[in-house]
Amino acid sequence: MPTESDVQCSISGFSNESSPVDKEPYLLETLTPEDLKRRYNIDYDHPIQIKLGRSPVCDVVDERWNGGQPTTGYWSAWDRTIYCVGIAPPPGYVMQHEVIHFRQMDEADDVWAWWNRYLDDEDFRIEVEAEAYANDIYVDAQNMDGVLWCFNSPLYGFPPREKCRNAVQRHLDKLYGV
Ligand SMILES: [Zn+2]
Repeated sequence: MPTESDVQCSISGFSNESSPVDKEPYLLETLTPEDLKRRYNIDYDHPIQIKLGRSPVCDVVDERWNGGQPTTGYWSAWDRTIYCVGIAPPPGYVMQHEVIHFRQMDEADDVWAWWNRYLDDEDFRIEVEAEAYANDIYVDAQNMDGVLWCFNSPLYGFPPREKCRNAVQRHLDKLYGV
């Protein structure tokens, strides 16, 4: 039986083997293309899953841009699965954002090919996130300042603000048909 101090440690301690960051992802639900259309007005021809927990790339991202410390409070797209990393299930605009990443990944050879390019190529990273974040603004969930605040994060390797702004604006112009 774990003692009370063990339990507290497992909740707050990042290095504890039984800490939440090490838990196996937990399947919340599977959504069919019909579910995606009806609930979120998303057109996507494949079923997707929503899981609580960390995607296979979370540790890599933390290692690369956060000194190995676990980031939390975000969603991670991986292999048609949205991982909820320390945050509740995704709201509608996040569903749209992550499905945009699934479409981008569908264009790549495989999910690691997409993610390796994402990790190594800052311009690619800005471009694929700008497409998704412009949609966040378009569906009225955020504004440009909120998006640039999100970009300024270890999740994205702290890309240059003006580059991000220009890329998001370019995608917004496309969405608004300017
Ligand atoms: Zn994204």
